[in-house]
Amino acid sequence: MSSPPLVACHECDAIYERNPIASGAKASCTRCDSELYREINSSLDKSLALYCTTFVLMLVAYSYPFLIMKTAGITEENQVFSGAWALYEFGMGELGLVVLMTSIVFPLIVVVGMMYLLLPARFGNLPLGHGLVFRIVRAIEPWSLLGVFMLGTLISVVKLQKLATITPGLGIFAFVGMLISYTAARIYFDPQVLWRLSKVKQLSSSDIEPNTSCISCHSCGLIRTSEEDFVDCPRCGAAMHHRLIDSLQRTTAFVMSAIVFLIPANIFPVMTVKTLGRGSPDTIISGVIKLMDGGLWGLALIVLVASVVVPFLKIVALCYLLLSVHRQSTWRPEDRTRLFRITEVVGAWSMVDVFLVGLLAGLVKLGLVATIEPGIGATFFAGAVILTMLAAHSFDPRLIWDRAQQTTDRSQSDSGVKADNKHSSHIQVVN
Ligand SMILES: [Zn+2]
Ligand SMILES: [Zn+2]
Repeated sequence: MSSPPLVACHECDAIYERNPIASGAKASCTRCDSELYREINSSLDKSLALYCTTFVLMLVAYSYPFLIMKTAGITEENQVFSGAWALYEFGMGELGLVVLMTSIVFPLIVVVGMMYLLLPARFGNLPLGHGLVFRIVRAIEPWSLLGVFMLGTLISVVKLQKLATITPGLGIFAFVGMLISYTAARIYFDPQVLWRLSKVKQLSSSDIEPNTSCISCHSCGLIRTSEEDFVDCPRCGAAMHHRLIDSLQRTTAFVMSAIVFLIPANIFPVMTVKTLGRGSPDTIISGVIKLMDGGLWGLALIVLVASVVVPFLKIVALCYLLLSVHRQSTWRPEDRTRLFRITEVVGAWSMVDVFLVGLLAGLVKLGLVATIEPGIGATFFAGAVILTMLAAHSFDPRLIWDRAQQTTDRSQSDSGVKADNKHSSHIQVVN
């Protein structure tokens, strides 16, 4: 019987054997607790069915009315793309583009890309250019913000209740269904269903000498020994590096730029609500205060957390991680990895305020009765959120472990145990 393929932890680079586990179980890294793989029963069938469902619901959600607003005898229908279009009409095309890409274009590319990969795989083949498509999907997935868009929609409905009667359209029901099936499809998808069909052999522990240094592909996770002569991943075509190139420098540059963007984002107004021709511009903070004055405490809290607390804490966390790696800290690498994981996941939710501005501008176009105009602060804020997301994606959490690994190696050689080279593979079995 051949030995199981190797799998690398994408957060700390520990290498394991991919042993069979019970259906529904999850194998986690014993070092940093990150998920290594799951065993999903008929992953291919389930994820393919769910992506196809998502695609159909997506067509409905994007072509039917989303929200219908009625006030003072005027009815205003809004669609998913109305927000992006309204931002463009107000001369804020760049912000409209961000909303359009993250709420419509990127999710569509992910879903179509996954169907392109999974449909032929269902019949035992990998399609032409599968490596490139897989890489594109992997790169775009974090920027597909359907859940954040939905939260923005819910907030805008609550916010507008005093102003008008809001009725949900068919589009919003399809959107909720699409969000559920999209999330489920991502959970049920195991990349191994594709790679089993690939001609590129997956290394197992019997293929490599003990203490051989290994490199894993950042995109598809293929493991190669560093002795092999290659530049790009033979399976997905991504450039293979030991660590993300210039990770610290790039992350620092993105964090610094984000800090600079946050200043105008908080000084300039994000939107102006005008009722009967009157109204004053609101910054992020004054918007929160107005919500509290209006008794909408829950909403005020969500906006405060998403737009003020999260970006601030994210920048603090990234600065701390950068500094700790720069100073080659060995302190609690597993906790620092956890901090990174939270930073990466939570950051995108700050975009809710940007979606909110777009949605409100798209809905409330009632001339003299009421209008909501987006403000330049929203563009800077979107820029800051995008920059913090880029910063988190540029940070390589494995750098946290490099120093810890060096220390372990040194103590092992002190105690007479043969020391591995710097990034050796430590094969462990996970049950
Ligand atoms: Zn790990
Ligand atoms: Zn690869």
